[in-house]
Amino acid sequence: MNTTLPRSLDPAPGELLPGYLLRVAHRIGISPLDLAHWCGLPGGTTFPTHHLVRLDDDQAQQTATVCRLGLAEVHGLTLGTQAPSYPPLHPVYLGRHQSHIDMANDGWVFTAFSRYCPDCLADTADLPGGPVWQGSWRLPYTFHCPRHHRLLDWRCPACQAPTFSNGYRVDGRWRPTQLIPSPRSHLHAAQCRHRPGTGRDAPCAHRLDDPSSVTRAPTDAMVHAQQRLAAAAHSAASYGSLGQPTSPQRFLNDVRATTLAICSTWPATAEVFAHAEHLDAVAAHVETLHRAPAERAGPQGDGWLARSVDHPPGDPYQGAALMTLVVQILEDPGGQAVLARVLSRLPSSRAGYRRLRRLAPHCSPGMSAAIGESAQLRRGAVGPPALFPQPPTHQGQLDPESIPNLLPDTWAWPLDELDGPPRQLRRDAAIRLVQMTMGGSRAAAARYLGITPGALQSATVTIRAWQKQPGNAEAYQEALQRIAEIASAAGA
Ligand SMILES: [Zn+2]
Ligand SMILES: [Zn+2]
Repeated sequence: MNTTLPRSLDPAPGELLPGYLLRVAHRIGISPLDLAHWCGLPGGTTFPTHHLVRLDDDQAQQTATVCRLGLAEVHGLTLGTQAPSYPPLHPVYLGRHQSHIDMANDGWVFTAFSRYCPDCLADTADLPGGPVWQGSWRLPYTFHCPRHHRLLDWRCPACQAPTFSNGYRVDGRWRPTQLIPSPRSHLHAAQCRHRPGTGRDAPCAHRLDDPSSVTRAPTDAMVHAQQRLAAAAHSAASYGSLGQPTSPQRFLNDVRATTLAICSTWPATAEVFAHAEHLDAVAAHVETLHRAPAERAGPQGDGWLARSVDHPPGDPYQGAALMTLVVQILEDPGGQAVLARVLSRLPSSRAGYRRLRRLAPHCSPGMSAAIGESAQLRRGAVGPPALFPQPPTHQGQLDPESIPNLLPDTWAWPLDELDGPPRQLRRDAAIRLVQMTMGGSRAAAARYLGITPGALQSATVTIRAWQKQPGNAEAYQEALQRIAEIASAAGA
């Protein structure tokens, strides 16, 4: 088809294809799907999201003709052109050809939704066709808006669905993604396009360009982290990582490996970087990652964002906290030794370990050295683990509903003999009692007791450090057995 629009629009700097098509369609008064058909983009009834990343020559040429653009302008509307050094966008990633399904499962490119800055949408709302959606909002290292000095948003305030998404079914799983959600609907580009319920209802249509929405300002460390990550994704120059020069691509693979190290061994990193900011937000993300798949599918959990064990959070605040910690470690003079120690705790049976082995050949010399050291430490490790798992030894002997989230004096006196942090020990012991009678993970037990992720993290960091002292772990295990006996005898 050789339709050429009677009038079109110039792309805005940093704009991405779906946002551009929305503006053009709104301006000339047709549906985005009709415009996309003219451009040769949809395949059958679907409107594939891989056009976010790159366009083949025929599609780019047809889009250029229809929209009266140059070929370079059309390619400029893709993430592959906008962040050329960001490895998760490459057709070959970590040594393998990746499909767009691999990319979605990995979660290091937001193909199913977009973060956004309401102030930026408001500033550009009066442009012909409506406001500009920035391509960088689709990349997990973009969590704040430098222009408006605010963290980004990622959910519609009205329907709570992630913005620019096709949303999820009532069972919480994603609907098939669409480059433009609700592509037959004529809506302003600032309106939420998510269809609640079964997907047959009208789109939510809430205006997202409300600059009065509440938000946080980023800290200086967050601003620095985003600058450094974004610069690497655009750079061809040499980059420093863990004290050694490397390529920007390898630095960005180090970012993923460090994320894996933090999340798979949490709270080991928090013990070393105890003064890092917003560790509670990192803890909340890790807790989501560790939820059972059925729990993660709920609409309010963001565990369904992606399948990989190390995907970054969709939530910009959690993302800011995590990426800031990652950059802090990669810039720290002792970062390599910290990573070696942390990674030595990653059990070789875990999915995270297999992911690390796949990442390792593509990381910087500093990260390779840390991974090598961690293997030696793992071989040399002796003695019981500092944070021992709690097996379900007392099922049926205790009523979990009778366990308070902070143990009373009548139960807790065996802890007084341990010379440990008293309040944190009482909280930790309550969590372990629940695990002894109900099984399950530490995080699930804490949730059962109504302990917040922040309080759990604080207890875990403190108790873990205390347990490392010689003899403490053994003495604590004995005390827990006595407490379980006291609780059972009390008729619990
Ligand atoms: Zn902004
Ligand atoms: Zn909405």
